[in-house]
Amino acid sequence: MGAIQGKDSEAVLKEIAEMLEGGLETQTEPFPETAVDFARVLDELRALEPDDLKGRLVIGGFTDKPYGPDEMRCQECIYFLVHRKWCDLPELAVPVEPEWWCRLWKI
Ligand code: SF4
Repeated sequence: MGAIQGKDSEAVLKEIAEMLEGGLETQTEPFPETAVDFARVLDELRALEPDDLKGRLVIGGFTDKPYGPDEMRCQECIYFLVHRKWCDLPELAVPVEPEWWCRLWKI
């Protein structure tokens, strides 16, 4: 994670946006319904190499648009830092746009 945090946040945001626009297939399902399932996804994220940005997007199930019938998005997630456009979940720790979503979404 440090490797990504050390990079310019805008550059990483752009890199992520390009991967998602390019059609990167991410694991949007299954959505972790229980604390155990949630912890399992976090374990998978922790097992990645610190600079594996793509792996984080895939396991996190990132989308570059609101997700599902409820149009869930980063904007309403407890981990979203609005002024920094940043996901503060330590296992992710990436810049994000308010209109994006991932399956670690929580309110
Ligand atoms: S946990 Fe997912 S939905 Fe929430 S802010 Fe981070 S990337 Fe967005």
